[in-house]
Amino acid sequence: MDTAWIISTGNELLIGRIANTNAQWLAERLTLYGFRVERIVTVPDEPEEEAQAFREALRARVVVSTGGLGPTFDDKTAEAVAAAYGRPLVLNEEALRMVREKYEAAGMGLTPERVKMAYLPLGSRPLYNPVGTAPGIYLEVRGTHVFVLPGPPREMKGMFTESVEPLLRRVAPKIYWCEAGFTMKGVAEADFAPHVKRAMRLSRRVYVKSHPRGRETGLSVVELHITASGPDPEELRVEVGRVLEALLEAARGAGGAVEKVWGPVVRRPWGGAQA
Ligand code: ATP
Ligand code: MG
Repeated sequence: MDTAWIISTGNELLIGRIANTNAQWLAERLTLYGFRVERIVTVPDEPEEEAQAFREALRARVVVSTGGLGPTFDDKTAEAVAAAYGRPLVLNEEALRMVREKYEAAGMGLTPERVKMAYLPLGSRPLYNPVGTAPGIYLEVRGTHVFVLPGPPREMKGMFTESVEPLLRRVAPKIYWCEAGFTMKGVAEADFAPHVKRAMRLSRRVYVKSHPRGRETGLSVVELHITASGPDPEELRVEVGRVLEALLEAARGAGGAVEKVWGPVVRRPWGGAQA
């Protein structure tokens, strides 16, 4: 099965000042893409420590790192990646253009610290940062796809959705998606949240989202959407079916009315056709 490693860089993580929400968010997404996340490694802002983690991570098919990409002296991830894979840091024209445009839009010019963000390991591609200034880095090393993202969660998520997912889809395992859902009336979304949480524990592949749809004749209306992905369509159908049944039972047990039950439906995103 295709494997993934997540590398989190930052002293703040290791001293417990911040929670590693980036790794949790990435682990959930990589799992839904069909990867088996094998390791989440947290390293200090030390280039040698970081480099060692990046070298070990070549065991995986995909590596995603966050943190240490900024313009300041303590941001050393690009340096560490270069050292890990024996590639010099070189000025990347596309990255320089991205950085320059960001600062020009803010009415500022380039300084050596800012230009530093455009030095990428030889053979890398910059990843556009829709929120902040530091571009991310994408490179392929001996069959491993390495994505280096910034630490601030909004930047990390924006870059992942905009720049990493399109590339990831090409290397992700050929997985199936399965969906189901229903509409629930008469139970508030917040009151139903514990049931959603419990139902999600029935399967690591299944994700449940609730969408509030306002009120009808005084009753709150909530749509439930269940999704899962994985290599085996029959297994998905069974797991999504199980979560669907559990949620339906919980909704009725909470005194809700259930309508428009649909699924499980299996989709094959890379081929378009139904399984
Ligand atoms: P910056 O340009 O802000 O320096 P950076 O890419 O260098 O960005 P870091 O310096 O490592 O990233 O982290 C910046 C901030 O992002 C941290 O102070 C913290 O608030 C947040 N952050 C970093 N890593 C994580 C993480 N793993 N989970 C949650 N938040 C994080
Ligand atoms: Mg930083």
